[in-house]
Amino acid sequence: MFAKRLCLLALAGIVASCATSKETCCPPEPKTSVKTLNDFQPASKPFNNLLRLPQFETTPDAIAQTTDQTMVAANAALDQVGKPSAGKVTFANTIRALDDNAARVAEAMNRIYLIKETSTDARLRDAATEAVKKLQEWAVGLDYREDVYRAVKAYADTNPQLSGEEAKLFVETMRDYRRAGLSLPKPQRDEVEKLRKELSAVTTDFDSNINKAQQTLKFTKAELAGAPESLLGAPGVKTGDDEYRVKVNVTWQALAVMEHVKNEKVRQQLLVAQSSLAKMENTPLIEKILTLRQQIATKLGYQNWADYQLEVKMAKNGKTAIEFEEKLRDGLQPKMEAELEEFQKLKIAETGDADARINIWDWRYYAEQLRKTKYNVDSEQLRNFFPLERALEGMFSIYQRIFGLKFERVEAPYKWVDDLQLWGVSDAQSGEPLGFFYLDMFPREGKYHHFAMFPLIDGKRQADGSYQRPVVSLVCNFTPPTADKPSLLDHDSVETLFHEFGHAMHAILTRANFVRFSGTSVPRDFVEAPSQMLEAWVWDKKVLDSFAADYRDPAKKIPPEILDQIKAAKYATYACHYRRQLSFGLMDLVLHDRITEQNAGEAVALATKTMSDTFLPMPADTAFICYFGHFSGYDAGYYGYAWADAIAADMATVFENSPDGYFDVAAGRKMRDEIYAPGDSRDVSESIEKFLGRPRSIEPFLKKIGAQSK
Ligand SMILES: [Zn+2]
Repeated sequence: MFAKRLCLLALAGIVASCATSKETCCPPEPKTSVKTLNDFQPASKPFNNLLRLPQFETTPDAIAQTTDQTMVAANAALDQVGKPSAGKVTFANTIRALDDNAARVAEAMNRIYLIKETSTDARLRDAATEAVKKLQEWAVGLDYREDVYRAVKAYADTNPQLSGEEAKLFVETMRDYRRAGLSLPKPQRDEVEKLRKELSAVTTDFDSNINKAQQTLKFTKAELAGAPESLLGAPGVKTGDDEYRVKVNVTWQALAVMEHVKNEKVRQQLLVAQSSLAKMENTPLIEKILTLRQQIATKLGYQNWADYQLEVKMAKNGKTAIEFEEKLRDGLQPKMEAELEEFQKLKIAETGDADARINIWDWRYYAEQLRKTKYNVDSEQLRNFFPLERALEGMFSIYQRIFGLKFERVEAPYKWVDDLQLWGVSDAQSGEPLGFFYLDMFPREGKYHHFAMFPLIDGKRQADGSYQRPVVSLVCNFTPPTADKPSLLDHDSVETLFHEFGHAMHAILTRANFVRFSGTSVPRDFVEAPSQMLEAWVWDKKVLDSFAADYRDPAKKIPPEILDQIKAAKYATYACHYRRQLSFGLMDLVLHDRITEQNAGEAVALATKTMSDTFLPMPADTAFICYFGHFSGYDAGYYGYAWADAIAADMATVFENSPDGYFDVAAGRKMRDEIYAPGDSRDVSESIEKFLGRPRSIEPFLKKIGAQSK
């Protein structure tokens, strides 16, 4: 399938002889020719599709120029919307014009953002960073243009009779203005704007207090017994003959102690320190932030901030999200008790104390002990079965099959890195070209650290009726190949691969007419669900056997017991893992549901109590919320993690109950038609039910995680 395979070793600049590792690094090139963009043009004609690739800026000057031009052009377009000739307001010159403008701005921003995260040239990354900042600051003011609002309002006052996607775009555009406060009388609107500015300043301070918060704890080697060499030997940790300094605010160091250090007092000391970071500085700011959020929400006509934030999501209001989380919490109770009992047995055996109880500083340690003793998991063994090329080919072949697609290698007219790949996606049956994706595979200096899908050109219907097909980029950080080994992925990375490519499918297979609804522009508590669903594929032996094989002996498939072991280990402590997640989600919802100016002084105590009630009791006088970064960026939205997970498990049943399981073509077709194609052009709850062929249910998720249903 790989039309042209490049020698990755040579490109990585490693002067190893490729001849010695021919088998692992450079298999013979298949004879298939690489296509160009132009080769796809004739096939796109009958479908009236527009195919083009982004024109990347290659100098800092070009980035600055694009930035300025984007702002000038967008301001001019908004001026145009703001002064339609009297009595001539139409859908096209107001609502649609705004969507057109948003698409142009998004395209420039997407490109510059990708340059910022992937360019091999530090000057370009710096210029792009500046440009993104400038564009973001400028974009904030766009919603508040009164001339534009007046024109849109004049159109709304004509009481337009719209249907389908146009009606949804109209309603949501008006909703945005209402949420921004534009529909309020001037004095109240000014008040909201003032509160927002204040909120933004306090939130920035909250974040910077988190970034600045530090604490170091000193221990002896004996106190740290059990800690891995990766901690004890890390730079800056061993500071004296028998003195080790653990940085509480450095997550991996704190985790290493919590998971491995035998001494309970040490774990306790660390947890207390960690849950007290930024306590003094951020306690008053949390009270201030919650008060401001509540004030803004009420001025805009909502009961509280949770209702305001969730109005635009699937959950719709705070109450629904809280009930969902509580149902999950209760369902997990028996399994959590069973897990804690196992931990307790281990603790009694280890300490000899028959009354030993599991505290919040214990669970990670005993979960790790359980993994080591009962499940004996060595997930590293699996790497040998996942050479990168094989994993990619395997996933490509599954996605092509279930979604009815054809992926073809395309010559990229411009490459920001030598080993960049470009692929074209077409409908396998009709031959319709649907979009393109770039594949930027290995880590390098200055590159984005995770694995993510970056949109570049969004799908959108043009004024002339043609359809602009999407282009995205997958930015990955696979383990690079070495002189004697190909790039070998661990099982987690294979899961991530299936997940992130799911986002690419969501973006590329869109049919939504407006950029606002296209691809992954769906509510945030849904956007992860289709990709989370696809994670189930990599836990299925049949799926894995379709591509995974030992790179040294491709006749060898994954031994079934290893997969079972990893799966069992994963679910063995899942209730604890999940109840901890729920403790964050509920804390976040409850604060944004209950705290007002009157009771703001109780905010931190309420946060700590909610966490203690949902997971394990937090030590007295700690204030975990003060160091919880998601409080500022994910406010009243943390529940989305569990919410989407539940939908993902529900959606997976469509495949699981189909004749061909995870390979089922009819289920894949349904996924394309009901989920990927519509995007947000209709209510996603409706799309999910159409895909399921029944109302949604939380049961498959409860079953998957071993929770009890009622
Ligand atoms: Zn994702």
